[in-house]
Amino acid sequence: MSLQALNDSVAVSQPIKTTLSVAMFSMMLGLVGCNQSQTPEQTAEGEASTTETEAATANSDQSVTIYSSRNEQLIKPLLDRYTEETGVEIELVTDKTGPLMARLQAEGDNTPADMLLTVDAGNLWQAGEQGLLQPIASETLNTNVPAKYRDPAGNWTGLSLRARTIFYDPSKVDAEELSTYADLADPKWKGKLCLRTSKKVYNQSLVASMIEHLGPERTEEVIRGWVDNLATDVFSDDTSMLEAIAAGQCEVGIANSYYYGRILDENPDFPVEIFWANQDTTGTHVNISGAGVVAAADNPDGALKLMEWLSSDEAQGIYASSDKEYPVKQGVDESEMLRSWGSFKQDDINVQKFGSLQTQAIQMMDKAGYK
Ligand code: FE
Repeated sequence: MSLQALNDSVAVSQPIKTTLSVAMFSMMLGLVGCNQSQTPEQTAEGEASTTETEAATANSDQSVTIYSSRNEQLIKPLLDRYTEETGVEIELVTDKTGPLMARLQAEGDNTPADMLLTVDAGNLWQAGEQGLLQPIASETLNTNVPAKYRDPAGNWTGLSLRARTIFYDPSKVDAEELSTYADLADPKWKGKLCLRTSKKVYNQSLVASMIEHLGPERTEEVIRGWVDNLATDVFSDDTSMLEAIAAGQCEVGIANSYYYGRILDENPDFPVEIFWANQDTTGTHVNISGAGVVAAADNPDGALKLMEWLSSDEAQGIYASSDKEYPVKQGVDESEMLRSWGSFKQDDINVQKFGSLQTQAIQMMDKAGYK
């Protein structure tokens, strides 16, 4: 399967044992395999030994239904492990985030969903704002997930981390020339910068973080500088953008770390390097994949137990490494590839800000001519 196919496919086949009822349910609703463009993602897994008995006792008679925008191929093995350890059956419905949220709205109290699993704090914040999630209180999640990666209102929690940082062509750029996202607006990068479209929530979240750190005026100035420096039209996805750097179309760009990792998996000699942005200032922009308990869930306890398990040491190692992401729980080993990229300072901002500043970020990018 090509990288792009992995990116965009949703209901991909694999050694999956999706329950018949899910498959039928999905087919009835015509939702399997109808995604594109908004990138379903991938996930991780958790620890089991201590929660096993409890969970099996409490939930063996009740399944958990997940609405997920993450790539089924990547999360299914983890969910299967949870079922093996606890006896809890999981029904997985996969689609893009937008359609899943619209479906939750339309289904209201009748939704079969217990848990929403998706990427980007901007998306999770939207789900919370729309009343689709319910506040959760969990000592386990509070312990395993740093507060900055959880919703202060308790509607959702991060389960893995992705860095959005700078990538460059080492044949043309010296790492010494690189520093911050804002510096990519400097005229020295004129005709050398590649960017993904501003329509993607990842860039909306990055710009939201800049509004918080730099203020709106300076951020708008930076966006205008980025637009002035573009080597070519914006890209629809991070992978194409990285490939454009490799092809010599541009020299620098911004992408999520796991897209780079996926490319390296297929091509270890891919001629693009990673640079950790903002190390002398606010730290590299880090976003989450995460989950929340659906407001109208029939089995909210089952959803919460699964989320707790996904935050455990056992699950974190698998969940994060399955898609070249970083564990959200501290002290869990990163994959060898990620270790080879070196450690870096993460932005300390609470990711909830990516949501609360989202509208302002979108309006600003539009005004500045960032397509
Ligand atoms: Fe992605």
